[in-house]
Amino acid sequence: DDSNTDSQAHAVWEKDKNHFIHPFTDFSTFHQQGCDIISDSDGIYVSDIKGNRFIDGIAGLWCVNVGHGRKEIGDAMAEQATRMAYFSTFNNLTNIPAAELSAKLASLAPAHLNHIFYTCGGSTANDVAVRLVHYYFNRIGKPEKKKIISRKNAYHGTTYMAATLTGIESNNWMFDTLDSHVSYLSEANCYRRPAGMSEAAYCDHLVGEFETRITELGADNIAAFIMEPIMGAGGVLVAPEGYHTRMQALCRQNDILLIVDEVVTAFGRLGHFFSSEKVFGLTPDIITCAKGLSSGYVPLGAALISDSLYEVLGTPQGKGGVLSTGFTYSGHPVSCAAALKNIEIMEREALCENIQRVGPYLETQLKTLKHHATVGDVRGSNFMMCLENVANKETGELLPLEARVGDRVAEEAQQRGLIIRPVGHLNIISPPLIWDEAIIDNVVAILDA
Ligand code: PLP
Repeated sequence: DDSNTDSQAHAVWEKDKNHFIHPFTDFSTFHQQGCDIISDSDGIYVSDIKGNRFIDGIAGLWCVNVGHGRKEIGDAMAEQATRMAYFSTFNNLTNIPAAELSAKLASLAPAHLNHIFYTCGGSTANDVAVRLVHYYFNRIGKPEKKKIISRKNAYHGTTYMAATLTGIESNNWMFDTLDSHVSYLSEANCYRRPAGMSEAAYCDHLVGEFETRITELGADNIAAFIMEPIMGAGGVLVAPEGYHTRMQALCRQNDILLIVDEVVTAFGRLGHFFSSEKVFGLTPDIITCAKGLSSGYVPLGAALISDSLYEVLGTPQGKGGVLSTGFTYSGHPVSCAAALKNIEIMEREALCENIQRVGPYLETQLKTLKHHATVGDVRGSNFMMCLENVANKETGELLPLEARVGDRVAEEAQQRGLIIRPVGHLNIISPPLIWDEAIIDNVVAILDA
């Protein structure tokens, strides 16, 4: 009954508040207001401990792509955990799910990416990507090629190197970063591009900035350029037409490797298992991924490495002939078993095709919200969308931070049964891939209200 669930909720809250350091959380409001304890989930819904049910508008955190409560994934994990939960993959050891998943990923990825390095999530995948790039250039006798080019407002994670690659200033407030390793270009923000500049001219401007930076730093000192194909946490920023391939061309001309961070954009969110090639015309040297790889049922990330990089990485020399990097949990059998089942579900239920069909519908329906005085922009692609709340639509002027507009929009939505994610003055909508038109109509009606 109610008093039981209230006292259970209170007991959980006490333990949580006193001992759990939450990521990305404002402890002042958290300690005053308490938090929602999400205790159950099913399909497109999650429920709190008091039994209130919500539509999950953010797929957990852009990750539960196949939706919640997939017993098959739980069964696959249980079967693997009871057969052989863990053993090392160092030296000459392996396990069946890691081998199977590697071959599967190689078959889904662009043709030249056939070698998989497993990590514990997205940050560690990006961290490893940088380490391998540095190692590669050291090995081929170009040790001065060290700088990584990233972008302002990029989000690549929070290990030390991934946090440094991250260009969202507020994320690193009072934290140190490894600044000497990274140089930041402007983000591609069409909505806030200089007034009067066409999208084509804006693209020229951004590409020109990269060109100038290469001249300033010297191509001989630059190792790689890392980018999210669509910036996620930085505001779901879709670059202007032609941007991706022109940036890639500059990389190729200057012997700069291209790392594409597909932590959010892979595994169906844009209608394909990987979006680099199919959506953006990119042939990266490394793709990093996580999240939808296991639909968040268990932590897992990966860096997909090109054949030409692997020619060097895969023939280690020097001390013991060993490529001396990796995690205890690289190729964890339970994680890999979950990912294999996850991919099987995506293929069987044609979830990429579902997004190709209903993704554009979500985009057009969300864009109807532009009639509101405070909705400055609705942008994104397929199941990666965002609303930008403004004070003035003509000028794009923002409301003051204290207005907490993103939080308040999210709170109002939640009261009406929908969870979306506030990020400053933005609201992000990144659903599980199993939404259909009827659910989209329902969600847009809630947001409209
Ligand atoms: N890269 C991108 C584009 C992300 O959105 C995220 C997380 O949101 C990460 C990397 C970091 O992944 P993780 O939180 O699994 O370390």
